[in-house]
Amino acid sequence: MTMHRKPVVIIGSGLAGYTLVKEIRKLDASQPLLMITEDDGCFYSKPMLSNALSQQKSPDRLIQSSATEMAEKYQLNIISNSKVIELFPESHELLLDSGERIQYQQLVLATGASPRQLPPDSVHIDVADGDILSVNSLEHYRAFHQRLDSVEHVCVIGAGLIGCEFANDLLVAGKQVSLISNTPLPLHRVIPSAMSEALLEELKLLGMHWHCETSVQAIERDASIGLQIKLDRHQINADLVLLAIGLEVDLTLATQARIDVSDAILTDGYLQTSVADIYAIGDCAAVCGVNQKYVMPIMHAARSLASTLTGQPVRVNYPVMPVMVKTPAYPIAFTPLSNHNSPITEVVEASSTGAGLRALYHDADKRLTGFALSGDLTKERQTLLKQIDIV
Ligand SMILES: Cc1cc2nc3c(=O)[nH]c(=O)nc-3n(C[C@H](O)[C@H](O)[C@H](O)COP(=O)(O)OP(=O)(O)OC[C@H]3O[C@@H](n4cnc5c(N)ncnc54)[C@H](O)[C@@H]3O)c2cc1C
Repeated sequence: MTMHRKPVVIIGSGLAGYTLVKEIRKLDASQPLLMITEDDGCFYSKPMLSNALSQQKSPDRLIQSSATEMAEKYQLNIISNSKVIELFPESHELLLDSGERIQYQQLVLATGASPRQLPPDSVHIDVADGDILSVNSLEHYRAFHQRLDSVEHVCVIGAGLIGCEFANDLLVAGKQVSLISNTPLPLHRVIPSAMSEALLEELKLLGMHWHCETSVQAIERDASIGLQIKLDRHQINADLVLLAIGLEVDLTLATQARIDVSDAILTDGYLQTSVADIYAIGDCAAVCGVNQKYVMPIMHAARSLASTLTGQPVRVNYPVMPVMVKTPAYPIAFTPLSNHNSPITEVVEASSTGAGLRALYHDADKRLTGFALSGDLTKERQTLLKQIDIV
């Protein structure tokens, strides 16, 4: 593709980068677009990574389109396997690790986030390569999937959304699972305690071992035993550790370019950073101060940003966006607390079958602002969303 105008350059080929491309193409067929990505640029659905094992999906089967197919379909240039190492906002240029300099008209940071690691100053780690894995990309999943062939017992550290989903998936795939958390319950403070307790019971029924309110002191490999995960009160032996203690945004590029950051890249409601012609979207962005690492905020942000980049500035307006927890043993749908107006009152009720719970959040005027639903009550999600929308 020949480029007469300078392109809109998008760094990152995750859900945020590709959704933005799709939205731009709905509005403008001719705007030159260039995507630069550190990975191979395949398009895949990241949420599927945490329920692919039980569905016996190999990493290759998760790929929906190759980079070449995406480039053709959306009239997009892609530079893959290439890392952006520096931004030059004044000259509207960036530098690749190959030494190539590229000019942009507008730049979008869709660089995602990386798995948080155990703090090396407080956790002693003496293991072999591949003993401790995290899964936040298809490439990570490839390594994890390959390793699982020779593994019976997986120790999952972290009982948030990702840790719980992987625990459920590994159990259904026939693995022995220990779930370790520094919290008293899984999904602690994300959903009501009664719901966390019910989730825990269902995972235990699948055979999961639960170690709560504890912290990891050391992970060491012993030639005869395998991995020893030393907790503050006891020790677990396992074959593999899956670390799921959250994600961190790499702020190096942004701070070098003097873009305002918090623990993510700060943007206004138009996804514009503090530096002219540089925008941020997806897991790396804190839009109006709020960093939401979920799919639905990306969909809404991409639609607004596409309009802004094609000449019609639109401020992103998030509706209440529920998150589905992919734990088939006990499905859950909840609206993250950042969606609610405070003050919040919570009412928890059980379904008539006893197989689900419903928690409704109201503001001071008794208006419904959000919910958490589980088991057979997750089907009420659309009805409740409509009730929130008409308030
Ligand atoms: C296992 C799992 C399950 C999930 N399940 C759900 C779910 O059920 N529902 C839900 O709402 N959300 C879910 N999420 C979250 C959701 O998938 C993410 O919010 C979303 O995929 C993030 O997309 P992104 O494009 O912002 O980031 P990423 O997908 O991380 O993409 C970042 C891109 O930037 C590139 N990059 C980074 N730095 C550079 C650089 N310097 N130069 C070049 N390229 C660079 C990377 O190579 C990558 O292509 C899940 C997440 C995980 C890990």
